[in-house]
Amino acid sequence: MGTLIHGGTVVTATDTYDADILIEGETVVTIGKNLDKGKHEVIDASGAFVFPGGIDPHTHFDMPFGGTVTADDFETGTRGAAMGGTTTVVDFALHTRGDSLQNALDKWKEKASGKAVIDYAFHLTIADGRDETMAEIPKMIAAGVNSFKVFMAYKHVLYVDDETIFKTLQVCRDAGGLVQVHAENGDVIEVITKQALAEGKTEPKWHALTRPVECEGEATHRAIRLAEIAGAPLYVVHVSSAMAADAISDGRKRGLPVYGETCPQYLVCDFTDYERPNFEGAKYVLSPPIREKWNQGVLLRKLKNMELHSFGSDHCSFNLCGQKELGKNDFSKIPNGAPTAEDRLAILWQVGVNSGLMSPNQFVALCSTNPAKFFGLFPRKGTIAAGSDADILVWDPKKKRTISAKTHHMNVDNNVFEGMTVEGRPRYVFSRGKMVADGDKFTGAKGAGKHQKSARYFPVSV
Ligand SMILES: [Zn+2]
Repeated sequence: MGTLIHGGTVVTATDTYDADILIEGETVVTIGKNLDKGKHEVIDASGAFVFPGGIDPHTHFDMPFGGTVTADDFETGTRGAAMGGTTTVVDFALHTRGDSLQNALDKWKEKASGKAVIDYAFHLTIADGRDETMAEIPKMIAAGVNSFKVFMAYKHVLYVDDETIFKTLQVCRDAGGLVQVHAENGDVIEVITKQALAEGKTEPKWHALTRPVECEGEATHRAIRLAEIAGAPLYVVHVSSAMAADAISDGRKRGLPVYGETCPQYLVCDFTDYERPNFEGAKYVLSPPIREKWNQGVLLRKLKNMELHSFGSDHCSFNLCGQKELGKNDFSKIPNGAPTAEDRLAILWQVGVNSGLMSPNQFVALCSTNPAKFFGLFPRKGTIAAGSDADILVWDPKKKRTISAKTHHMNVDNNVFEGMTVEGRPRYVFSRGKMVADGDKFTGAKGAGKHQKSARYFPVSV
């Protein structure tokens, strides 16, 4: 006996057609019209789209930052993601200077194992350019991690210099890895931040004002040039501004394999959110910061025109109460990040598809298929095909809901999309054949998620 998803419209990154889907065990076995209902459990998908489950290429669960730890761990974070239609997350295992990459990976596997409710894979960050670290990269690729992130920001913490970035690019080029970059000029930010604090500028909005858009534009441009010299592909995470997105477009016009990711918060929040009274602006303290409103339309059109290629949440949650408050008198001490994994799909559906700008296929490409390809999970994940994992999202395009921290499924007291009404939400979510969400009800299980090894990076044509 299997599960028959009946009467829906199947949407992949390339095709749209009416069909039933038969799941047996953990995989899709048959796709076809009017499949025999037999003794199968029948799931009603009438009036709904049937998508491959979302792949969130950018989460931070159970992550230490600025003297505290994210509010969501792998259980609550993946639960929120699953309730929003995501069936795989790719989280960042943080390397520590002087330590081995293997230790970082082991640590993060332990955080996720027995907790995650959906499948997960890992990126590794690179904290130093020692020969030992570089020599470990091919071993990590063999162990199932195909992407390595370098930070140009967060001076004295995660920051690495251009020498380390360049070496990482060369090693990844030869070994089948993809370098990811957090592109903001950390040196300049450090200087401006100190000056602002010395002048008594302490409110949340100064977080954004001390990280001007030029810092992101410059660093993005520099990272792309470094990748160009190295002859390596590059993936720019969380592009927040037109200036950074333009640098990526320029690189692509030169024929470079450079890719960009943006996130829901940059499409619907804007600088004025930092000016909310009673320290509420702290909710929006994340990096790069939320920009002036006009950037939203530019990012959205770049997604539509495939000049940005991937849609991640950059979920990194901290409670306002007790965590964000650490920076009550000093914006630089506010933990950076926001809870966005649950609403990632709903936001892009609302501003991208409901607005008429993009097709449901493009939505699937950005939220699932492209991330699966970048991070070595395709075609096991990221599409609906016979033999693929039965990670399936039955999406009700007409159902409305209003986003709120009171009703979301993440373990955090705030939501940057609070009060926003979105049309389109999951009806059912399946993770390897098991239903994990039935409308508003979580039906999954703690620890059901499995670690997914990424295949080595292959050039992605998007
Ligand atoms: Zn991040």
